[in-house]
Amino acid sequence: MKIPNLKPKYSKLDEQLTEELKAPQNTQGWWVTPEKQGIVTPQVMLELAKEKHAQTHWGVDAMVYSLKSSAVCVGMTGIVKSMVADCPICLKNNPLNWICQSNLSVIQSGCLSSNHSEWELLFCRSPVFSLPAMAS
Ligand SMILES: [Zn+2]
Repeated sequence: MKIPNLKPKYSKLDEQLTEELKAPQNTQGWWVTPEKQGIVTPQVMLELAKEKHAQTHWGVDAMVYSLKSSAVCVGMTGIVKSMVADCPICLKNNPLNWICQSNLSVIQSGCLSSNHSEWELLFCRSPVFSLPAMAS
């Protein structure tokens, strides 16, 4: 996976995440964790996720698992989740499956630190995530 070749604009939250992950290495302006995950901004993560999803149409869990091998960001699961939720192809193919998957990944989203999953839970509980249209 390619990380865009531009200088990242990290926010305060990104910096916090970087400290939690102890990611001191700085390659061309990007922070990289000891596990070789690039710390990216949510905007970049969204682009990476879109690219990956366009090729695979994987569910949230598979997407996060795959993306996490090369990049992490603040609220990653939430970003992937809303991106997958917006995919008309996935929604059309199997909306119920999507709901089950997303519930599962809320429970399992302790992917970084306890703090981080709390943010993600907040994100998941926001009204956006009540959207799978049961009434269709
Ligand atoms: Zn899709």
